Amino acid sequence: MVKKVAIVGAGPCGLLLAHYLLRRQEKYQIDIFDFRSDPRTISFSKSRTFSIVLSQRGINALQQIAGLEAAVKAMSLEVNGAVIHQSNGKMRVINRRYQTWSLDRTDLVISLLEQLTTKGDRVNIHFNHQCTQVDFTAKQVKFKKIEPEAEIIFDYDLLIGADGARSVIRESFLDTDNFECEQKYAPNDYKSIFLPNPDQQLGNKWQPDKVHSWRLDDGTNVLLVYQIDKSLSGVVVFPHQNKAIAELTTTEKVLSYFHQNFPEIAPLIPSTEAGDFVNRPVSRVPTVRCNRYHHGDSLMVMGDAAHAVSPALGQGCNAALEDVVIFDQILDECADDLPVAVEQFTNHRQADGNALVELSDYAFPNSKKLFFELLLRNNLSKYLHPILPKFFLPSLFELVAEGKLSYSEILNLYQDWISRVKKSNHSILSN
Ligand SMILES: Cc1cc2nc3c(=O)[nH]c(=O)nc-3n(C[C@H](O)[C@H](O)[C@H](O)COP(=O)(O)OP(=O)(O)OC[C@H]3O[C@@H](n4cnc5c(N)ncnc54)[C@H](O)[C@@H]3O)c2cc1C
Repeated sequence: MVKKVAIVGAGPCGLLLAHYLLRRQEKYQIDIFDFRSDPRTISFSKSRTFSIVLSQRGINALQQIAGLEAAVKAMSLEVNGAVIHQSNGKMRVINRRYQTWSLDRTDLVISLLEQLTTKGDRVNIHFNHQCTQVDFTAKQVKFKKIEPEAEIIFDYDLLIGADGARSVIRESFLDTDNFECEQKYAPNDYKSIFLPNPDQQLGNKWQPDKVHSWRLDDGTNVLLVYQIDKSLSGVVVFPHQNKAIAELTTTEKVLSYFHQNFPEIAPLIPSTEAGDFVNRPVSRVPTVRCNRYHHGDSLMVMGDAAHAVSPALGQGCNAALEDVVIFDQILDECADDLPVAVEQFTNHRQADGNALVELSDYAFPNSKKLFFELLLRNNLSKYLHPILPKFFLPSLFELVAEGKLSYSEILNLYQDWISRVKKSNHSILSN
């Protein structure tokens, strides 16, 4: 019998999951619900989107669906390393062995959606539907339809919460026995920034295939990535306690702050962008660790809903896409026995989700001394790991991005470093 699957959340995770389920020989009828409008039909607000770098884990997940890799790649720019811009104007270039793609989150969602809507009537997508409640016993999920206003009740055989860090589906687990969930804010807040093509002013001085970063001693970082249209998109990341960015309340203050602190970036900021920057909200990033990702025999959370992380390592979306591959493998192993599959998803993935939260929170130290140690370790590991593997670990960033080891295995290897950074960051933040 065809099973009715309800996916709450038409983000990268929910949409990729629909692609994977549709491959499974007509076993599933899929309905996807999202409270936002269809991003293909509305122009999206820049305060709602940001650039995402997809590394091998995410790219592998796309490659398994015919046409998806090409569609997403067409919206992306290839990135193969980073440039650290130092305060003396010098640049430190870090080349990576692997390829990554940089693209806007909304463009990623649009690609996944466009490919999905060519796949017939086994999938329906309902925008402007906000999930409000789940009834586990009746296997019903409730939505508030936004226009025209209505309450919709949907019967499901399998309900998947891919509804992001503030998941309503995960909230519904809170009343169940033995469910533990820690929700915290990441230590750093951020504001998005968008700059026009810098090459007209800089004359190709910056490499477009690198992530560009600047760092101040007070822990403020600017990360900029080229987009396919040659513009730069990025974030200003800063410790929550640091109010300097939040206090930039006029165009003049924004421009003067960048002139003083990031003189290479300042000339690239048009006054319209400085004005928009003032009006963009400071965003806090929730992080989530749970002791299980399923409830009963027919309910599960995935992606940010299960393990929201700080964007520091650029892995949230990669992990969300990798979740789908893992669930697909589980369905293969248990011949689509859904009660077994949802439980196995917790068994296979929960430790990795929690390990990723830890790695993302503490891979990067706030201390200047430890930061230089990190750069040094990273450089040395390239040359010394191949000849002295017992004494020099491979680069943490390479391991995370390549995806050959699970996040738990990487955390095991890097536990000493993570513990040191955790101790140091906590002592800096408590001073
Ligand atoms: C500044 C920034 C930079 C980042 N950079 C990277 C990066 O470089 N690489 C990387 O891998 N990750 C990055 N991430 C993380 C990445 O964006 C997320 O991990 C990823 O989007 C998670 O996908 P998801 O589908 O699980 O959840 P989301 O993308 O959050 O999608 C959830 C969907 O659910 C919908 N929804 C929510 N609640 C409801 C409800 N009640 N009813 C109906 N629908 C609902 C939302 O509208 C949304 O469409 C970054 C994040 C930030 C904030």
